[in-house]
Amino acid sequence: MAYAYDTNNIFARILRGEIPCNKLLETEHSLAFHDIRPQAPHHVLVIPKGPYVTFDHFALEASDAEKADFITAIGRVCKELGVQPGEGGAGYRAISNAGNDGVQEVPHLHVHILGGRVLGRMLERAG
Ligand code: AMP
Repeated sequence: MAYAYDTNNIFARILRGEIPCNKLLETEHSLAFHDIRPQAPHHVLVIPKGPYVTFDHFALEASDAEKADFITAIGRVCKELGVQPGEGGAGYRAISNAGNDGVQEVPHLHVHILGGRVLGRMLERAG
């Protein structure tokens, strides 16, 4: 089954400039902005500009240029936030929720970059 992209999802509307965002950085193929309901002192969303629903969709169908740009944008966000462990930062977590079991709210690929506090274990419960 092909991926169905909803062109009216909220991140598509941000990309079209129909609603504002608190932008951290923008590149040719990617946009990073602060989450509207932050769950940590640092909570940034990194999205590709292309119409990709999930990480696997992007990984399988995006161009090499889009992928390189997106990965670099994530690195630049970490640097901008000062969370890189290798550079004296205290660390972060990168999360991408997908589909029903991943409890994805917005159907446009986004990687959450969370940091600024100890984030606890990855999942609340096992199994
Ligand atoms: P997910 O559950 O992974 O799909 O996460 C979607 C995220 O998008 C949530 O953390 C929301 O707080 C965030 N969000 C929803 N609308 C906006 C918006 N207009 N600007 C910034 N972040 C948003």
